[in-house]
Amino acid sequence: MGTATEPKIRGGQPSIPATMPQEQPERLPLGPLKTIHVFWMAGMSCDGCTITVAGATNPGIEGLLMGTVPAMPKVLLHHPVLSVESGAEFMQSFKDAHAGTLGDPYVVVFEGSVPDERIAKRTGGYWSAMGSELMSGEAEGGRHAVVPTTEWLSRLAPGAAATIAIGTCATWGGIPSAEGNPTGAMSVMDFLGKDYRSAFGLPVINIPGCAPQGDNFTETVFAILLFLQGIGPLPAFDELGRPSWLYGETVHQGCTRAGYYEEGVFTKEYGGKECLVEIGCWGPVVNCNIVKRGAINHMGGCMAAGGICIACTMPGFPDKFSPFYKAPPGGIISTTMSRGVGGVIRRLRRLSNRHANRERRWDVNDDVPSGWANLPGSTVGLKAMEFFYQKWQHWGARKPGRNPGEEQRLWGGMRPGKPSDYIDDSVSEGK
Ligand code: SF4
Ligand code: SF4
Repeated sequence: MGTATEPKIRGGQPSIPATMPQEQPERLPLGPLKTIHVFWMAGMSCDGCTITVAGATNPGIEGLLMGTVPAMPKVLLHHPVLSVESGAEFMQSFKDAHAGTLGDPYVVVFEGSVPDERIAKRTGGYWSAMGSELMSGEAEGGRHAVVPTTEWLSRLAPGAAATIAIGTCATWGGIPSAEGNPTGAMSVMDFLGKDYRSAFGLPVINIPGCAPQGDNFTETVFAILLFLQGIGPLPAFDELGRPSWLYGETVHQGCTRAGYYEEGVFTKEYGGKECLVEIGCWGPVVNCNIVKRGAINHMGGCMAAGGICIACTMPGFPDKFSPFYKAPPGGIISTTMSRGVGGVIRRLRRLSNRHANRERRWDVNDDVPSGWANLPGSTVGLKAMEFFYQKWQHWGARKPGRNPGEEQRLWGGMRPGKPSDYIDDSVSEGK
């Protein structure tokens, strides 16, 4: 069993080294795979990540399990909730994987944070466990003890083709590791240590979110399996092991309300359609793609559903973002600036918007034949502004329509009708 430098644990809790993964030096070959096992384990978890993955659509887990996704191996899922097997039959595959007799490569997926079992052991208990084994020193038929999930992680991670932490609890410790927790909970990365590499040489892959979108997970698994198949490149991950194409931008950069922020319009209460930053949204500093991708099947997502961003994908969650529902202090500077600049820009845009909402014919006739309302005509000031605006708009470019003398290019002859039938002066008939 390896030993790592001892991270400090507050409150007199024991240090980490005994939890380090066991060595398994062999490297699995790249190449076409028919099947791949996925060992899903849950530590300090609410099972929300399982639920969200069950709702994934792109691709859905049904296709992966049935082996019907093109170029994908069939996935054999060993899941404490979803598997049909139970008891010793369920645990046998875990034992085979640890013994190296599984026959096919496998991926480890860990949901929930990793508790420090040594704390629980002090009182003879455990935080999370899966299966039981004969206690050491006991003869066959003797007493059994539960096997902590952390032990299974420690046993299987070194031989896995990849180890994936799903959800913020597994990626960064999440809520179970918040200030004051009694379990010493930590992330998979913290547990396995900086030197951890899978059998394919990959550090822990992190898909954060509480819960993350299921599609973020299945899409990443899809990309990794393509790589393991030898038919795709290694997907791009950032310095924290997040798929960079999914977590490279902030919520704010994809938010449907960002236009309101830019124009300095902020809601003061829930239910408002404007930007939510003044009621506690952390979106401008949070890496997450939920507004762009939606929560399930491209639908929903926090701001789309009217909710603020509480930064659930971030390593600092929840302590660095609490109390929730209070405006982030840094937002005061940017919202004040947005109010000043955005207030001017917003008014100018309204004028342009009013201009764009009129047909060219209505401008010439100074009348809008709408049966819905009496729309005000253009004022002299507005006309002057539109005149200069259009001059600027077409500066150095050709204005739409025909230049005088070019009428024949369209018709090859006289345009029909009378000049008064046309709003421009390009008609030659009667001239
Ligand atoms: S609601 Fe949040 S993420 Fe959206 S624009 Fe406002 S601050 Fe940005
Ligand atoms: S928008 Fe914020 S609260 Fe919502 S999923 Fe993304 S990080 Fe979590």
